[in-house]
Amino acid sequence: MLTTLVHAKDVTDQIMALKAKGLKIGFIPTMGALHNGHLYLIKKAKKENDITVVSIFVNPTQFNDKKDLEKYPRTLEKDRLMLMSVRTDILYAPEPDDVYPEGSDNNFSIDLGGLDTVMEGAHRPGHFNGVAQVVKRLLEIVQPDNLYMGQKDFQQFTIIQYMINTLNIPTKLRVCPIVREQNGLAMSSRNVRLSSKARENAKLIHNTLKAVKHKIKSHTSSELAQYALKRLTKPPFEPEYFDIVDGNTLQPIENIDKHSYIVACTAVWIEGVRLIDNMILKQEK
Ligand code: AMP
Repeated sequence: MLTTLVHAKDVTDQIMALKAKGLKIGFIPTMGALHNGHLYLIKKAKKENDITVVSIFVNPTQFNDKKDLEKYPRTLEKDRLMLMSVRTDILYAPEPDDVYPEGSDNNFSIDLGGLDTVMEGAHRPGHFNGVAQVVKRLLEIVQPDNLYMGQKDFQQFTIIQYMINTLNIPTKLRVCPIVREQNGLAMSSRNVRLSSKARENAKLIHNTLKAVKHKIKSHTSSELAQYALKRLTKPPFEPEYFDIVDGNTLQPIENIDKHSYIVACTAVWIEGVRLIDNMILKQEK
């Protein structure tokens, strides 16, 4: 049975009682408009924990563009059915003033070690401070043993791992692979805003990432980025960035041979929708 809670205190009380019984808690924070990418995280959490908690909260502090916040799809009733279909135990679906109560220090900024100044951070000022704020609050409320996030948001999970380490938060981050539509487009809540033609053509993003990976041995990183940007500049596609970075520092790299962990990350606009995707190009153990 899915228990839906809207108050942080109720969530914490219930979870404390469950933890006192020795039960392990897995947590998946989301902004709703759930799809199979989210369900993958939930199924993984179900396997590795006794109780699975999902939050649905469209966090205003991480939207630097007010229109994007307004247009963000909200489908709570449908989401609840999907959560039931995978036997989620607890849904926390609060309003903003429950997460950020008046009078508390909500607007804190968090040291993110410079990981927040590149890529998404460079194009969406303040975005990651908002993400870190909300995840820190949610972790205080839920106090999970395990936190599940997707590789789809590569910079996001890297930053949250940094925050967990620096604040000594006793939660283990588990990262799950990108779930894609049949044509390769990374699943995203934003995909529903695309026309069916654009949704089909958006396979170009994944195809470009695959082509870059294929060429990594025979080209420099700037050649690869140039190639990708050219390929993605095909109306109605408009790439915002295509960066080849070190997977740990997220800093752009020059010499591919000098790095053992390399990721290509991109953001592409199509029909007024901003899509992000990434691919690990190299990961030597
Ligand atoms: P969101 O609701 O977009 O904030 O995403 C909630 C969580 O689901 C984040 O950790 C995302 O990285 C993850 N996620 C979103 N889309 C996908 C996907 N296609 N594959 C895997 N994880 C995803």
